[in-house]
Amino acid sequence: MIIKHNVQLKPYNSFRTKALAKLFCEPATLDELIEVIRTHPHEKKLILGGGFNLFFTKDFDGLVIKPAMEQVKTITDDEQQVEIEVGAGMEWDALVEHCVGRGYAGLENLSLIPSTVGACPVQNIGAYGAEVSEMITRVKAVNLKTGEVEIFSNEECQFGYRESLFKRHPHYAIATVTFRLNKSFAYQEKYADLNRELEGITNPTLTQVREAVIRTRIRKLPDYRLLPNAGSFFKNPLLSWKEKEELLKVLPNTPIYNAGVDLFKTSAAYLIEKAGYKGLRRGQVGTYEHHSLVLVNHGTEEGQEIIAFAQEIQQEVKKRFGITLEPEVQAY
Ligand SMILES: Cc1cc2nc3c(=O)[nH]c(=O)nc-3n(C[C@H](O)[C@H](O)[C@H](O)COP(=O)(O)OP(=O)(O)OC[C@H]3O[C@@H](n4cnc5c(N)ncnc54)[C@H](O)[C@@H]3O)c2cc1C
Repeated sequence: MIIKHNVQLKPYNSFRTKALAKLFCEPATLDELIEVIRTHPHEKKLILGGGFNLFFTKDFDGLVIKPAMEQVKTITDDEQQVEIEVGAGMEWDALVEHCVGRGYAGLENLSLIPSTVGACPVQNIGAYGAEVSEMITRVKAVNLKTGEVEIFSNEECQFGYRESLFKRHPHYAIATVTFRLNKSFAYQEKYADLNRELEGITNPTLTQVREAVIRTRIRKLPDYRLLPNAGSFFKNPLLSWKEKEELLKVLPNTPIYNAGVDLFKTSAAYLIEKAGYKGLRRGQVGTYEHHSLVLVNHGTEEGQEIIAFAQEIQQEVKKRFGITLEPEVQAY
């Protein structure tokens, strides 16, 4: 495996900010991944997927590892279900297409999310009422501190809303993810936007659901190749009952969703819009005109500009509504 020096990371993050990586490699097998970790024990390490949920603010003085394993291996297969183990480097939507094409149900609502398979457990990707943690049975990863392979069950991954063990303790390089998928499918009405898109179709097929998700996403989200961005910049805030009541006093029409016992979720996009930031532009950075939660880059290469704009939004939302917005996107 080739280890490159001084690699420009601008093409490797969808916000297109510039930074040099001191060292950069793309292991194509589990053995190569283990080897590069064991032979570079003292280098700072970053595991990079498609760079759709991170951007750079300065050069990376260490080793960037971009897993490139792409195999799909059937582990178990019976009349009802199939279990497949997939390499971390596979493009996420290629996997969804692969599964829908074979009639394997579970991933279709997550169509078109820009991701690699290896990154999907990190923030437990979700969309249209589904989260990938519902389908994951195992994650195989290499511990960056010891160079040992470790296997995590679904429970051990400690999944939460845009959360997991791997996000809280980023010292694992995920090599494979195993999914359990169903061979039968009945559409469940979980999400209003998707229900509307499928209106008039009785018992939609997996393919029809996938196509409806793709159409909806293309309508709502900017194409990062044309307008660089990293999707939703902030998480939707989770609130206690008291916090929810306080918020409704200042902003009575705020959408509120149940998220557990004494736990409610509100819309970060709504708060940003009400703070006056929908479609607003500050220099080369702004929010998307059709979706205030998506920060977009109109031409800067400097990650710091994005940070400054994000902080301004956080301060304004805090000042007006008392809510702390937490970034979903990671800055390096
Ligand atoms: C237009 C757009 C729309 C989006 N829509 C959604 C959405 O609907 N739902 C949603 O949940 N997310 C969404 N996102 C965010 C993004 O798709 C996910 O966070 C995705 O999982 C990022 O994948 P990646 O391969 O690009 O990871 P990266 O951005 O490269 O990395 C993200 C994090 O995961 C770590 N990581 C990556 N690969 C590995 C690995 N193999 N082992 C260990 N750690 C790893 C990185 O170190 C980093 O901390 C969107 C992003 C964009 C640009």
